[in-house]
Amino acid sequence: MTERKQLTTAHGTPIGDNQNSLTAGPRGPLLMQDYQLLEKMATFNRERVPERVVHAKGSGAYGTFTVTNNITEYTKADIFSKVGKKTDCLVRFSTVAGERGAADAERDVRGFAVKFYTEEGNWDMVGNNTPVFFVRDPYKFGDFIHTQKRDPKTNMRSATAMWDFWSLSPESLHQVTILMSDRGLPQGYRFVNGYSSHTYSFINADDERFWIKFHFKTMQGIKTWTNAQAAEIVGQDRESSQRDLFEAIEKGDYPKWRVCVQVMPETDAETYHINPFDLTKVWSHADYPLIEIGIMELNRNPENYFADIEQAAFEPSNIVPGISFSPDKMLQARIMSYADAHRYRIGVNYAALPANRAQCPVRTYHRDGKLRFDGNAGGAVNYEPNSVGGPVEDSRYNEPPLKVSGDADRYDHRDGNDDYAQPGNLFRLMSAEQKGQLFSNIAEAMAGVPERIKARQLVHFYRADPDYGRGVAELLDLDIQGIAALADLSLEELSQMTSEENYAGLPTKSRLPAAGA
Ligand code: NDP
Repeated sequence: MTERKQLTTAHGTPIGDNQNSLTAGPRGPLLMQDYQLLEKMATFNRERVPERVVHAKGSGAYGTFTVTNNITEYTKADIFSKVGKKTDCLVRFSTVAGERGAADAERDVRGFAVKFYTEEGNWDMVGNNTPVFFVRDPYKFGDFIHTQKRDPKTNMRSATAMWDFWSLSPESLHQVTILMSDRGLPQGYRFVNGYSSHTYSFINADDERFWIKFHFKTMQGIKTWTNAQAAEIVGQDRESSQRDLFEAIEKGDYPKWRVCVQVMPETDAETYHINPFDLTKVWSHADYPLIEIGIMELNRNPENYFADIEQAAFEPSNIVPGISFSPDKMLQARIMSYADAHRYRIGVNYAALPANRAQCPVRTYHRDGKLRFDGNAGGAVNYEPNSVGGPVEDSRYNEPPLKVSGDADRYDHRDGNDDYAQPGNLFRLMSAEQKGQLFSNIAEAMAGVPERIKARQLVHFYRADPDYGRGVAELLDLDIQGIAALADLSLEELSQMTSEENYAGLPTKSRLPAAGA
């Protein structure tokens, strides 16, 4: 028989009895001095850290990234320095809206966050399984997320809130179309692509800058559920994506992604027909084809879910020399908000936790703070400049200057921005079966939504492609002629006409709005 080790308290004191609490007589009451019981209960009460406001339910694994193509003409990043180079990584997938105990097989965007432990620091690619997002200005992010979460009164999710917001924010149409398409309900995390969504930049050894987008193409193929299939799965298994990923890795069936980039020379940004820093747009593959850069394989399940995945902290602010930011407003805001969220959720010293710790030396003058468990740099000097040999900067790591100009103002991001061409292109790419799924997914998701909001949203579908509007209108039993009659209204006019106060039904032939109304 193997000898069992001594159980102790958190402070190392041997425990004599882990079955019976200390009581005055066999029937109780408890004695206040039972510090073993108190430690056990108090620690239990504190087991949970706050769950993430978004992306609360997640799954993850460790893996390896291997370079397959020489891209040193675009970037000096050490991770890409030679073909065959391997870098450890950690990936966390997630759903967005559901809480920590939500079911996996839900129609939702999937988070796709990767931490690469490079020799020049951690590089995090914090993306989604979609190449675009619902909003393009971070000012609207909190509003959007409120529509995905619980209604303040009913404590239930509200389709009305979602479609009210989306129909008043036409820039969401591209992402809404992807979410409601077959790809909006993946069979599991192994079967999704990952996208940086944001535009980032590469900087090469000659200090030339390129704008780039990352694409992680699943080598397992895209696999999706219909709503009906998912409902059956959720009834049997709320952890279907977690189970699929964990079990595949456990039996050695390691999932892989082909990692690619789209590369845009810096000055193209000034003349490209769309704003390349707009998170609601993609760059056409015909204009900027995918260039393969490597293969990412997931091959090790975490030993402890909480330590490795719940405490994992991904942040777009983690860049490395040769990879940097872009003027994308959403990215700029995430640079602040992710690290801020981690400091709140798991504490100021989160970077020292094993899952987040860089594998290269870390030398800072940061000190103290809650839960400083890494020795706090011992007796080393804690200020800079100093004359006692403390770490110093090196100007070789400065980026080439980025030209920025313009008057500070709150510019209308909708001004002159086409929110319909790309969703329309996506719609026209779909097979008849995919279009059918799109229509019925939207119709189901609109159940219980007032007609005035449905009508407002249908105008956007119609503008992307009349057949898109028609397909949804038929399932909702709404008159497409009435929708078409609203298609030329400005967003302001459309909002007025479909407000709770003003809506008087869809225009019929006799009540079409006057031209220019
Ligand atoms: P392409 O024909 O070169 O590319 C179309 C892309 O659409 C492919 O990457 C394909 O992925 C992807 N796709 C197919 N069905 C769906 C779906 N239901 N949801 C999300 N993506 C899907 O055309 P363009 O580059 O000219 O783009 C046309 C449209 O394709 C865009 O407006 C955009 O909506 C969509 N798209 C474009 C991407 C890009 O980076 N250019 C990326 C993803 C989507 P796969 O090859 O894996 O089948």
